Amino acid sequence: MSTSRSENDLAAIYDAMACGVVVRDAAGAVVFANAAAKRIFGRAPEELDGVEPTGEDRRIREDGTTMPDDEVPNVAAQTRGESIRNVMMGMVRADGYVRWLLVDAVPIKDAFGRVREVVSSFTDVTDRKKAEHELERLALHDPLTGLPNRSLLLDRLEQALRTARRLSTPLALLVMDLDRFKEINDTFGHPAGDLLIREVAERISADLRETDTVARLGGDEFALILPGADEGGAGHVAQKIIAALQRPFDVEGRAHEIAISIGIAVSPQHGEDAETLMRRADMAMYVAKRTPGGSAVYAEHNDPEGSNQLALMAELRHTIEADELHVVYQPIVGFNEGEVMRVEALARWRHPSRGLVAPGEFIPLAERSGLVQSLFSRVLAMTLAQCAEWKRANVPLQAAVNLSIRNLLDPDLPRIVGVALERAKIPPGWLAFEITETMLMAEPNRVLRTLAELRDLGVQVAIDDFGVGYSSLAYLQRLPAYAVKIDRSFVGRMTRDHGSSEIVKVITNLGHALGMKVVAEGIEDQATYDACAAAGCDSAQGFFVGRPMVATAIPAWLAQGHRTVTIN
Ligand code: C2E
Ligand code: MG
Ligand code: MG
Repeated sequence: MSTSRSENDLAAIYDAMACGVVVRDAAGAVVFANAAAKRIFGRAPEELDGVEPTGEDRRIREDGTTMPDDEVPNVAAQTRGESIRNVMMGMVRADGYVRWLLVDAVPIKDAFGRVREVVSSFTDVTDRKKAEHELERLALHDPLTGLPNRSLLLDRLEQALRTARRLSTPLALLVMDLDRFKEINDTFGHPAGDLLIREVAERISADLRETDTVARLGGDEFALILPGADEGGAGHVAQKIIAALQRPFDVEGRAHEIAISIGIAVSPQHGEDAETLMRRADMAMYVAKRTPGGSAVYAEHNDPEGSNQLALMAELRHTIEADELHVVYQPIVGFNEGEVMRVEALARWRHPSRGLVAPGEFIPLAERSGLVQSLFSRVLAMTLAQCAEWKRANVPLQAAVNLSIRNLLDPDLPRIVGVALERAKIPPGWLAFEITETMLMAEPNRVLRTLAELRDLGVQVAIDDFGVGYSSLAYLQRLPAYAVKIDRSFVGRMTRDHGSSEIVKVITNLGHALGMKVVAEGIEDQATYDACAAAGCDSAQGFFVGRPMVATAIPAWLAQGHRTVTIN
């Protein structure tokens, strides 16, 4: 083989090569580039000669991090004086496009061992990278929805948990499952089911932050990671998702309703590793399932390993069905004469072995187990039957029944109430409802509509436990409610704590400004009673005025001089 080829011959050989070749001098200036190099860089040969061959802004490593200058192969070969082989280097263009090159850089030294030139050869592997990426995407994503699959979710969850631990921030995991999806799949076939799943995925994904991850776990199960969210934040997102799915779905031209059950687990309280958190969110989801279209936060007492809650739920169901629930009535009286006298109906469960179980314990149980609708119907029926008796005895008392969020969001509520009033032959003015301020926030618009329907029926609504939520003034102003009930935590501290007493005054003024009556609840002594009267409250409720009592005790209590007025 001849050792002395002409430069033209050499250039022709270089140009015949598939890989790019660029030769730089010791100063880094390009002294030669072959045809492939020019093609790869998309430049005219004369443009490439003598200039840096890259129009790219930034070089990156294979993992996406920036490649420092001294790590760029030709620079490294120059400074270290040794060959650099097989470096994967990405070149990021201003528009974000990344060109991937597999690069070798070899130094050529002079007689003194100094680097005279550096020869870089490289292949464009962008297409191969893309194919690899696509394979990875396929392995980690659900093909139907394009969402991350279970294994990518677990990966992201572990990563997010590490970050949360480092920053001491909370993290919430939601596990969701469609209710009765199987029926649609079975009735309309898989293509229709697939379309529905896709639409559900879109609705769940809408409105999320960039840092949140939605995944399809399989079938009709989804999961959502919310970095930074605590229980409250997660509950809020859950409500939004439930609301987003409430719009009917179009399945083969017909509107279908699909509900979703959501289980929530929050780190660090409920677990600090991905597996525990997943298991607990899943467990919470099964609790939520008992009330279709609901959400539940993981609670230890729901954990079948840790308690007898399931047994208690079964007993509660039996109690409600067997009509063994009781209702007691607590009077609410006006500070001024002429105020309507009311009673609040409070449910009681007399358990054969546990004794009296407080509503604070069994109402949440009923909510979690789907019993709260029948519980409400029972309490409503008993209360209205009692009103009928008082009416016959000429004792006009308005009775207020407490609503759970699930009752309030039941689209059937106004109808159920209408039917119950008719059946008991009680004018609507005898009945009122109490809803807590925190319930208003779950689904403000739907609540407004329901309250308007109740008002149209002639039934009044009061906002209970007022002052502990964060309702906006603009919203409160639109509420068709007749009264606010100041939370007893403020009232109870009034005489000891100046702040609480100020809060009572402010809430009273606010209530009046909104055109509502103001009830102070939890009045336990004369001093508090007087302070509430001085603050301008309209009505009083509390042990000092009267304890919750059985219905038959009410006439005797009234006989002590408490007066009632006519209800229209
Ligand atoms: P609530 O609606 O705020 O009812 C007032 C609660 O305060 C009652 O507790 C009552 O006994 C208590 N209370 C009244 N005066 C005083 C007082 O002077 N001092 C103190 N410390 N407490 C007083 P109860 O009966 O244990 O009910 C607790 C909660 O359970 C109720 O709070 C209500 O939200 C819920 N609840 C009760 N019955 C029902 C029901 O039938 N359905 C629903 N959904 N919730 C109910
Ligand atoms: Mg109440
Ligand atoms: Mg209350």
